[in-house]
Amino acid sequence: MPAMRTLTVLGATGSIGLSTLDVVARHPQRYRVFALSAHRQVDALAELCRRHAPRFAVLGDAGAAAALRTRLAGAAPATEVLHGEAALAEVAAHAQVDTVMAAIVGAAGLVPTLAAARAGKRILLANKESLVMAGEVFLNACSEGGATVLPIDSEHNAIFQCLPPGHGPGRAAAGVRRLVLTASGGPFRRASLAEMQRATPQQACAHPNWSMGRKISVDSATMMNKGLELIEAHHLFGVAESCLEVIVHPQSIVHSLVEYDDGSVLAQMGNPDMRTPIAHALAHPERIDSGVAPLGLADVGRLEFEAPDERRFPCLRLAREALRAAGAAPCVLNAANEVAVAAFLEGALRFTDIARVDEAALQALGHLPGAPDLEAVLELDREARAVARRQLARCAA
Ligand code: NAD
Ligand code: MG
Repeated sequence: MPAMRTLTVLGATGSIGLSTLDVVARHPQRYRVFALSAHRQVDALAELCRRHAPRFAVLGDAGAAAALRTRLAGAAPATEVLHGEAALAEVAAHAQVDTVMAAIVGAAGLVPTLAAARAGKRILLANKESLVMAGEVFLNACSEGGATVLPIDSEHNAIFQCLPPGHGPGRAAAGVRRLVLTASGGPFRRASLAEMQRATPQQACAHPNWSMGRKISVDSATMMNKGLELIEAHHLFGVAESCLEVIVHPQSIVHSLVEYDDGSVLAQMGNPDMRTPIAHALAHPERIDSGVAPLGLADVGRLEFEAPDERRFPCLRLAREALRAAGAAPCVLNAANEVAVAAFLEGALRFTDIARVDEAALQALGHLPGAPDLEAVLELDREARAVARRQLARCAA
């Protein structure tokens, strides 16, 4: 019998959270759900609480928590409903939890994910922003707390699977020459700059291969997602920017590759379904069924690869510059980009101006030294958001 693992899912109502619970429900003898969180989706969280009977449910504010208590009245076994950032950190670090799925979107995921790191949990890391904003602070907390990080991002999970066993965060594997991250190219892979200028949120969120939350969907359309993933890969695998490549692969079947000194290139393949990396990380080093259909390569037919176009996708260049600059730059880029994407989704910014807002923030603050602790990271994040908001006003004018 496998050991029973106790799981907190941060961001349970999101795309990654729901995929995680789908895999977990296939293995009731392996996983027990201890806590679930959502920001404001009371109905969705109520449904998940009825299905998974967690001991705790956490929402963003008191009003949402009260509404969930009403929905769950009389349910057995009882779920205790909490709210706010401190409660998120509490269920991420709780003594009875061994595994935390970090699947909150954006900078809001940092504090609870860091709490899980300090408490020495097994962290299934979907929230790439934790590493982009606070790479060193986060990895130091992991090593001090004795936490393990298992990458959920499909590219990083693929690389992890192609590296020699025993390889951990921040340590470069011997004999590795390059890590190659694949990118689908997103919905605007073939679009002209003029078409991208007119792009609507609906078009930007219509990803050809993956079904994801709206923020990461827009990032995939600008290719900022791949840029953030370069920074994530640098921290997770301890490799320099010059050893990280991006290649566009429209079929999203090869999830990334590792090139060794002897010329060998190992790739991990599978259908584009996040339940594969999630099941891999949940069970590691064992393997479990994920519910994903077997890969039919004859049906896929052909696998294509092309170089990315940094002229139409300047966000990729900005992320590389931020990674090379190091210090404050990655955190500044992430914060500005969150502001710009939110404005685009609200119809207040043109698609092609997202990169302009990001670049303005990098120019203003990207030269600053890196933030040494959580407080400084959060302060830098606030400053970068303020610069980005001023730039939004200029773009709108
Ligand atoms: P999503 O928007 O579908 O879900 C986000 C979840 O976070 C929801 O449960 C939401 O309630 C919660 N949340 C949002 N704002 C919050 C806040 N301020 N405080 C607390 N909780 C909040 O997002 P997603 O697509 O599931 O992505 C989640 C994370 O996983 C992101 O960091 C993303 O980059 C990463 N990721 C996602 C995919 C994917 O396929 N969706 C792939 C790789 C990595
Ligand atoms: Mg990815």
